[in-house]
Amino acid sequence: MKEEIAQLKILQAIDLEISEMDSRLAAVTSGLDQRRTAIAQYQTESEQFRERLAALEQRQREMETGLEEDLARIRDRQAKMMNIQTNREYQSLLKESEDAKKSSKEREEELLRLAGEIEELSKKIEECDNLRAGEEKLLADDSKEADSKLAELSGAKDKILKKRATKSKNIPASILKKYEMLRERRKGLALVGVVDGVCRGCFMNIPPQLFNDLLKEEKLLICPTCNRIMHHQTADEE
Ligand SMILES: [Zn+2]
Repeated sequence: MKEEIAQLKILQAIDLEISEMDSRLAAVTSGLDQRRTAIAQYQTESEQFRERLAALEQRQREMETGLEEDLARIRDRQAKMMNIQTNREYQSLLKESEDAKKSSKEREEELLRLAGEIEELSKKIEECDNLRAGEEKLLADDSKEADSKLAELSGAKDKILKKRATKSKNIPASILKKYEMLRERRKGLALVGVVDGVCRGCFMNIPPQLFNDLLKEEKLLICPTCNRIMHHQTADEE
């Protein structure tokens, strides 16, 4: 079983390298995805701000029209007051003029408030658009870099997959099957070293008799705690 265990060690090392490559590939893609998400968020935010701005500007136009009407009404009533006949008529025109003055004052205050709000919102839109443009630039830069990184990693992975195919032919089918099953169920780690009687997969001590059997390398032994295939390792090898 010594030879089979040696071959399994090679295979496990290759498999760990492959999974390391897979995480590096995933990291490259997820970095780009994060930028895309940020860009989409800025886009949504900017659209919401713009909708709000359009509503404020609409209200501003309404207020300006209303103000012009108020001012025209004031001018009209004051002109009429020059030619009045009765006191009752005068009082009525005076009241209309005062009402229009009050209304125009309120509209002026509202217009001032709206101008402030519009200015503040316009700043937010500008800021948001700048941040989005920044992320888009970074994404473009990162994409270029990512393309070459992905090509490089994929090339390296292809190579190692071929190596794996060759190496796995050296292992008897039944052992390979057991290894593959364990690898799938034990987070990619099917074969573990045992150093000074401690399993490096679960860090539990294995019984002394089992450890003695392990040293003989006569058969495939399984850790009683984590169920992985064990092989003996010295502290140096580790
Ligand atoms: Zn274990």
